Parts: sequence; structure tokens; C-alpha cells
Amino acid sequence: MKAPRFKGWFAKLPSLNQPQRRQLLDALYPAAGLDQVVALISEVRAPSRCCPRCGNERCYRHGFANDLQRYRCCACGRTFNDLTGTPLARLRLKAKWLAYSQVMLDSLPVRKAADRVGVHRNTAFRWRHRFLHWVKLDRPAVLNGIVEADETFLLESQKGSRTLDRPPRHRGGHAVKRGISSELDCILVARDREGRTVDAVTGRGALTAAQLARDLLPRLNRQALLVSDSHAAYRAFARKHRIAHETVNVRASVRVRRLGSLAIHVQNVNAYHHRFKAWLQGFHGVASRYLPNYLGWSWALDGQRIISPEQLLRIAISFINR
Ligand SMILES: [Zn+2]
Repeated sequence: MKAPRFKGWFAKLPSLNQPQRRQLLDALYPAAGLDQVVALISEVRAPSRCCPRCGNERCYRHGFANDLQRYRCCACGRTFNDLTGTPLARLRLKAKWLAYSQVMLDSLPVRKAADRVGVHRNTAFRWRHRFLHWVKLDRPAVLNGIVEADETFLLESQKGSRTLDRPPRHRGGHAVKRGISSELDCILVARDREGRTVDAVTGRGALTAAQLARDLLPRLNRQALLVSDSHAAYRAFARKHRIAHETVNVRASVRVRRLGSLAIHVQNVNAYHHRFKAWLQGFHGVASRYLPNYLGWSWALDGQRIISPEQLLRIAISFINR
């Protein structure tokens, strides 16, 4: 619409009655959501905008596609937009992304999320894991000072898989073997006293020193004091990599030990395990292969680290801490 005609149309707005205003707002609402998302994508991605094929920063505008500005690389000629190469590339219905981010902040299960946002439940599930793909990587670079580490276990699950690599569990939910076995997924959590937290699904069965070296060492300040229970894997790991290490004998019901002015315990990390497991119950069982995503999601929400849908969407499409 040309500007003068729009002006005339706009001047008549005050004469609308209440139902007409409602109708107008309902018609504009999705477009407003879309505009907000498109503006946010452009703002977040502009500083690092470059060709996904050759990395060249010089490009020119080359039309619009799927509501986004398209660019063409001056060097290699490839076209791209601000979502190319991100986990949200080629997802549709952008107008609903902020509403979807909000249902993620509300930890809604798939069906409820789908109903609230007005998408199919398969879409809600696909979006969940696309959104989490980078959100789960948004972690502190290193843990400092006293670093508590402990592992916890969840029954391995192949929910949603077409083929199982074991006989199905009838009326599932229980391991056949007692104790720590290959039926359990091991989740390592390490947390320093500033609340910085990293985690990893180390594999099935008991934790090993090699897994600690792979999953914890890169995120551990070498001057840190590692605190764990008396599990041999932690001792072997700390000795091999020359990391200061104190243990607390949880099996003998010693929960806290004083070391000078320091309190030696793993209670912060155990509380984190409890919060994670309690939160996970809202999803009625999740597949093992998605566990890292759920750990990342839980970390995003823990301590209200991410509180607005815009913030979540930003992290889903850009690099923050990694
Ligand atoms: Zn290029």
C-alpha cells in the first residue's frame, strides 16, 4: 500500500468498534511475531555474517526467500541467509518461534507445547531438539576453585527407536541387573562453587578415568581442587593429570569434611542431580540419545540462567560461550 492511502486508512482506525479491533489485532498478531523473529535473527547474525562455503565477508543482497533476506557471496557466488549453517535453517513457521521458546522455558511436554503454539506434535518435537542443538553447548569455559564432581545414573532408554539393541522391557522402568550395569546411562556433572556447571553422558555403566579425561579435563582449571566421592576413577584421573583432589567417603555416611577453612563435600552437585531428575520426570521418559539435549536444557533453566524467549532464541542461532 502506498503511503498516502495508508495514511487515510490509518486515520480511520479510531472509528473501529471493539469486535473489529479484536479482529484486526488477531490478524496482525502473527505478522508481529514474524517481524520480531526476523529482526532478532538479523541482529544476532549480522556481526558474524559471512559466506558459509568460503568464509568471505563480502556479499550483496539478493532478494528474499522464506521471510529472510538472501545474500550472494562476492567471491564464490553461493547464496545464503542468516540461518544457513545454524540448527534452525529451513525450519518453517518463524512467526511461532518466540511462542515456542516460551514453552521451552515453561518445560512443557511435546503435546502441550504443540497445542499451546498451534503446531503438529512432530513439529514441536523436531523444534525442541533443533533449538537445543546449540543451547546445550552454551557452557562455562572452565570450572575454577573447588570443583565438585559426581555421577548419577538413568535407566538406558531407546524410546522412539525403530529397532532395539536388546529385548524390550515389558512394563519397563526397571533394570534387570542389580547395581551399576550396562543398562544404565552414566551422567557426569561437575560444578564449581560459583555455580558454573558442565555435564556429560559418559556412556553406559561405571565411570572410568579415561572418560573423565575426555569429558571433564578440557573444562577444568588445572589449579582447581577436585572434590569427589572415593570412586577409584576420580583418584586415577587426578593422579594421572596432577590435579589436586580431595574425597569424601559418602558410603561411610561422611557427607561433609573440613579441610582448614574449606568444606569438602559434593552436595551442590548432588542437589543438581536431584533437580535434573525431578525436572526430567515431567517428560515421562526420554531417549538416551537425547540426554545431552535435556542436560543442556536443564542447565539453561537452572538458576534462571535464561529467562526470556528472545534470549533462548538468540543462543539457538548464535555462538555465546563455547
Ligand atoms: Zn563464498
